[in-house]
Amino acid sequence: MSERKVRVRFAPSPTGALHIGGVRTALYNYLFARQHGGDFIFRIEDTDSNRFVPGAEEYIIESFKWLGLEFDEGVSFGGNHGPYRQSERRDIYKKYVQVLLDNGKAYVAFDTPEELEAKRKEIANFQYDASTRLSMRNSLSLPKEEVDALIAEGKQYVVRFKIEPNEDVHVHDLIRGEVVINSSILDDKVLYKSADELPTYHLANIVDDHLMEVSHVIRGEEWLPSAPLHVLLYRAFGWEDTMPEFAHLPLLLKPDGNGKLSKRDGDRLGFPVFPLEWHDPKSGEVSSGYRESGYLPEAVINFLALLGWNPGNDQEIMSLDELIRLFDLHRCSKAGAKFDFEKGKWFNHEYILRKDNAEVAQLFLPILKEHGIDAPMDKVITVVGLMKDRVSFIKDLWETCKFFFVAPTEYDEKTRKKRWKEDSPERMLELADVLEALDDFSLEHQEEVVMKWIADKGYHLGNIMNAFRLTLVGEGKGPHMFDISAVLGKEETLRRIRRAVEVLK
Ligand code: GLU
Repeated sequence: MSERKVRVRFAPSPTGALHIGGVRTALYNYLFARQHGGDFIFRIEDTDSNRFVPGAEEYIIESFKWLGLEFDEGVSFGGNHGPYRQSERRDIYKKYVQVLLDNGKAYVAFDTPEELEAKRKEIANFQYDASTRLSMRNSLSLPKEEVDALIAEGKQYVVRFKIEPNEDVHVHDLIRGEVVINSSILDDKVLYKSADELPTYHLANIVDDHLMEVSHVIRGEEWLPSAPLHVLLYRAFGWEDTMPEFAHLPLLLKPDGNGKLSKRDGDRLGFPVFPLEWHDPKSGEVSSGYRESGYLPEAVINFLALLGWNPGNDQEIMSLDELIRLFDLHRCSKAGAKFDFEKGKWFNHEYILRKDNAEVAQLFLPILKEHGIDAPMDKVITVVGLMKDRVSFIKDLWETCKFFFVAPTEYDEKTRKKRWKEDSPERMLELADVLEALDDFSLEHQEEVVMKWIADKGYHLGNIMNAFRLTLVGEGKGPHMFDISAVLGKEETLRRIRRAVEVLK
């Protein structure tokens, strides 16, 4: 069994945008598959037509494309275990439902929703199981002729799994260890409904895991209660030998306080819970996404990877390749992971810092364009190199760097009061003359000549530099002065100095 090829699946239901927790589940599956040279399968679990949301499947596919997580098989990726959309596998499920009926592991039940409701009222904590099933209307309690007649006349029915009571079901979980659940707490799950001729989630999910030769089921904690059903159904079909290994991932928790991370937390605290912006087709509501909020996909992946797992030391920045190498299900925590979105911003900052200046410049270009700036690429690259350590998002580069591209038209009042001295106009005009005489306008040469001029004249270094900054930037911020003037070039530097003197005189 250990020699088995690793095959894992991400199996979302297309019921809306993909939650960031789902992205983490997919990521862990991906890392595990890549580490073991296995297959990563994309299955769409759409047997519940009531919850189907148009556009959700496309959204999920686009999300993974953006993140750079590639599937090997599945909806829109091909493969020879298809179709991978459950709504296209009806006939397969029908066949397997029949197998369970034939070997007595399942039965047909005719109870209407009203009858079930009445039972629930009559019996506290009613559960359809070994203790109650004989008092219900099903093929175990009714004579065979009656059952056949009901089916023949087109009465609607469901097929239920006949769970044997009082049996300890062992689920081997790679994160949680041996989980033991007594079968008596499970109800006789509905596996199939004649009304829409479709299986329920439970049956389809398990039949597909078997047929798609899934070796490991890595999924959110919320599915842990379903795990014994997985085991019991595999057994009922006689598939014990190919039972997948399980790993139920820790919950993602609210950034503040307890409880599961929800979309409302994102709205309340101002961070996205979806990978891409989502336009809800029903309500028209638009929810923010990591992509549109300016996150780099590599940063999102690194951030998510560490929510519930760590490499065993305090290394935080890891490329996708490193994550593939280091990931280990045994190092996943059982306890929930707090969703620290400030940390997410920090990761984005770190990834911007580590990115090539040319690449960051490429991402900054469209934003410059939006502001009507058409600057030469080498200038943008230099500016980005000077300023990228100051931002967490590419879009914030604009506010931080715009003085490199547009001359100030106004001068910050506070800075002016503090930094613009009585002799500043005169000094700045002198400085302009000094700079004008330079043939070599490189940073180093400017610095050398200007420092010498200041020293020779006995001027106050701070006063000169502060005034110089105000003329070029319009306020008191920015990097090293000669970095700024070198990027602006001689002509623009002189123009800005002389204009400032005129305005501020
Ligand atoms: N369709 C289920 C979901 O959307 C899949 C659960 C599982 O991984 O088995 O969460």
